[in-house]
Amino acid sequence: MSSAKGDRVFDLSGRVAVVTGGNGGIGLAIARGLAKAGAAIAIWARDTAKSEAAVKELEALGVRALALPCDVADEAQVAAAAEQTVAALGRIDVGVANAGGSAVTAFLETTLADWQKLTRVDLDGVFLTFREIARHMVARGGGGRLIAISSIGEIFGMPRQEAYAASKGGLGALVRSLAVELARHDIQVNAVQPGWIATEPLKRAMKWQRFHDTIVHRTPARRFGTPDDLAGVCVYLASDAARFHTGDTLRVDGGYSVF
Ligand code: NDP
Repeated sequence: MSSAKGDRVFDLSGRVAVVTGGNGGIGLAIARGLAKAGAAIAIWARDTAKSEAAVKELEALGVRALALPCDVADEAQVAAAAEQTVAALGRIDVGVANAGGSAVTAFLETTLADWQKLTRVDLDGVFLTFREIARHMVARGGGGRLIAISSIGEIFGMPRQEAYAASKGGLGALVRSLAVELARHDIQVNAVQPGWIATEPLKRAMKWQRFHDTIVHRTPARRFGTPDDLAGVCVYLASDAARFHTGDTLRVDGGYSVF
């Protein structure tokens, strides 16, 4: 990627970032962080009302923002979203594959349909997002950044969430392979592994006192993470400061994994 203004290595002005699932939770916090650093944002997600509200919030930060309806598991929709982003914002410099879901099902009861419902979004969706954006970056020249939002589920056993854990595990392998393949195009590819972050999908479980206390006591930071805790690492990975950083997975978990 071309150099940002002067020596402000975290300045993203002039850059365009796609954030899948950028209309809520961790994705919106990442979009906000990238926007505060100056990037124009394209949100790709399904819920158009949520996306429009997010666009207004991002525009209030003084950047261009755009929402495109997109199910990341749908190949044609991802291709269309990439095309429309480039048509509207001119280019894509950063792709954050954050969209994802989870489900809890006993392994012995898990059907192939259950399995694929999850992996189609959490793994195939990242493949499709990265492929479409990388095609654009390679054709345009000038490099770029791809960032996958994985999970500490990559490294810890997640009973009854095998499809989720397997998808996230696949992301680590994907970024390492892609980092090598795309290096010649000056595209850096990394993953971020959030720990336990207080977003909607976790809020119901957090009301269960035993679960809540177990996580808090097990986390050296003594709290659940917030979506904003993930913004800075993505700004770094999108910025000139990270131009020699590729094929890595950065863990942001309040120390959970080292305790
Ligand atoms: P949320 O449910 O709050 O956000 C998920 C986002 O993904 C939504 O904005 C949703 O938007 C979008 N999304 C879901 N499915 C699709 C799809 N098929 N196509 C396009 N967009 C989709 O969850 P979080 O913010 O907690 O999670 C964000 C990411 O962080 C996920 O990948 C998750 O696995 C990961 N993560 C979260 C952790 C946590 O503790 N919260 C821990 C580790 C990782 P819409 O419904 O409008 O499509």
